[in-house]
Amino acid sequence: MAKVFCIANQKGGVGKTTTAVNLAAGLAMAKQRVLLVDLDPQGNATMGCGIDKRSVKHTVYQVLVGMVGVAEATVRAEGDFDVLAANRELAGAEVEMVEFENREVKLREAINEVDDQYDFILIDCPPALSLLTLNALCCANGVVIPMQCEYYALEGLSDLVNTIKQVCKNLNPHLTIIGLLRVMYDPRMTLAQQVSAQLEKHFGDKVFKTIIPRNVRLAEAPSYGVPGVLFDKSSKGAKAYLDFANEMVERLGLPVVA
Ligand code: ADP
Ligand code: MG
Repeated sequence: MAKVFCIANQKGGVGKTTTAVNLAAGLAMAKQRVLLVDLDPQGNATMGCGIDKRSVKHTVYQVLVGMVGVAEATVRAEGDFDVLAANRELAGAEVEMVEFENREVKLREAINEVDDQYDFILIDCPPALSLLTLNALCCANGVVIPMQCEYYALEGLSDLVNTIKQVCKNLNPHLTIIGLLRVMYDPRMTLAQQVSAQLEKHFGDKVFKTIIPRNVRLAEAPSYGVPGVLFDKSSKGAKAYLDFANEMVERLGLPVVA
């Protein structure tokens, strides 16, 4: 059975997609069988893996509305992992799904059919606590929360943590927070240091030891359709995401990435 993790934070631009894509590629480098599910109508994870969201044959939208199965809909990315793509079609899914029974578990039902084919299934969530994010939370074993170390980051965090608690209580008792990942970190900023220390104080072991620095190579990689860890392996950002993939597998008691 695959371990299913969603990368969630209702804020936009906090590094969810960058984390999802690089973790997928990093785990694939560690010979793990990985499926990356793009659950954001913006399709950034899809494009970031070199898959053209405008011409892809099947998408996660078709999976959610029951038109096609996951196995049939996935595309192989260059980094040796599978991608379930998304594009703007997905924006309509929430409206269509309102009429569905058990609409919050559509992704879970679909993923159940393939979960013996993967070691990890990673879900890149949209920037909202919407029905799509709820679908991700209902099928995940764990949530990875990327966050920038700034004042407002903490404010949004309590809403997300409360939502996760609610889902855990009512819909998915297996759900846990795997960890908070500090991203786009600039050690020269006093505020970043303070917020980072505060996070460690409040969340203890739940804060990943690895810190992802702000790194221009990570920001450039999507325009080449390649995950940062493959785009420039020697960059600080790539190294940090590989360390993060290692920390993740270590936490789960799996062998370390080469
Ligand atoms: P989200 O999915 O939460 O909206 P993204 O992963 O798309 O966030 O990141 C937002 C922007 O920040 C993107 O342009 C991305 O390339 C850039 N970015 C993400 N992480 C880093 C980083 N560590 N260093 C520099 N730029 C980054
Ligand atoms: Mg995104």
